[in-house]
Amino acid sequence: MWKQYRRTVEILQALLITGLPFLRINGQSALRFDIGELRLYVFGTVIWIREFYLLLAAILFMLLFITFVTAIFGRIWCGWLCPQTVLLDLSESLAGRIGPKNGKTARNLLLFPLSAMVSLTMIWYFVPPLETMKALFTSVPITAFFLVLWVLVYLELAFLGRKFCMSVCPYAMMQNALFDKDTLVIEYDQSRDDTCMKCDSCVQVCPVGIDIKQGLSTRCIACAECIDACRAKSEPRGLPPFPNYKGRIMRAKTFWMGGITAAAGILLTLIMVLRPPVDFLITRDQEPLPQGLNRYSWTVYNNSGRALDLELSATPDVTVIGEHTFRLKPFEAVRGKVLLKASGTVRNVRFTLSGNGISIRKDAGFL
Ligand code: SF4
Ligand code: SF4
Repeated sequence: MWKQYRRTVEILQALLITGLPFLRINGQSALRFDIGELRLYVFGTVIWIREFYLLLAAILFMLLFITFVTAIFGRIWCGWLCPQTVLLDLSESLAGRIGPKNGKTARNLLLFPLSAMVSLTMIWYFVPPLETMKALFTSVPITAFFLVLWVLVYLELAFLGRKFCMSVCPYAMMQNALFDKDTLVIEYDQSRDDTCMKCDSCVQVCPVGIDIKQGLSTRCIACAECIDACRAKSEPRGLPPFPNYKGRIMRAKTFWMGGITAAAGILLTLIMVLRPPVDFLITRDQEPLPQGLNRYSWTVYNNSGRALDLELSATPDVTVIGEHTFRLKPFEAVRGKVLLKASGTVRNVRFTLSGNGISIRKDAGFL
């Protein structure tokens, strides 16, 4: 029973991760970090490298979310969602269909194309899929990166596999510290030990080689395979499976931790959504110029997915010299300089960036 649910979740997760780079919103990938431009595209908006605080806020939210999920649902990530588990499960499941004989060889062969797909998918989160496919045959760095990643992913999956979960994975080590007595775990019912058949079906199916009858183990990835294996043996005897989920989901901690996590998620979304469509920065250049002349450097960031026609103007007591009307493509940053010439004594100037219903004012000094 759990196996079918898990397989469905795993397939959906694999489709989501592989398909997300193909989803385009406002002309850009739904989720992609552009290394060349140092900007992150997130579901129709953009985070510039100068807005690093937003990335930190997103990381903090993820930490809160992981803490909440782990404290309440235990190692649900490991057994149901971790890409490592998903890939190993899917390759083992496919290898099982080919035949139980030479299962490991078949699995390792299947992991070869799967690792290539993983490597490609990872690159798609940095370079759009179509560009990646073209670059694979024309760009040495992309081809080299793909091949190195492919080999590393393959070696990790084929030769480290579940050992990674038990020995290397930092998340696996951290999450046990987040457990409490009510966290959802898979536990053997010791009170019914005298009726257990000791058939060891639960041990044979365990992907990490645990004997759940010996008690809770930090190596358990909560995959629920032992429950299904035991159910097949115990149900004909009219008994529930001996290993089973144990814990309490509906409790005070769920509500206060869930509330804090939800509030942080809403706050982060509001910060992202309520950002102005354009950011405008302007500073006076420190350079010696004749009296009455000042030069300014400006940068305009288009946070929106639409092209904008904008004009930079200043207070009437100065004349703007230089390019001051421009078109900003979606998610584009434009930099430029303008020279201001004052006819009389001016101490401060007010710049206005306007167009497409946008009007932003900035003050700057004048010498
Ligand atoms: S599969 Fe069930 S009945 Fe068999 S040893 Fe494991 S717990 Fe006991
Ligand atoms: S003990 Fe059961 S739930 Fe834990 S890893 Fe083994 S089969 Fe999965």
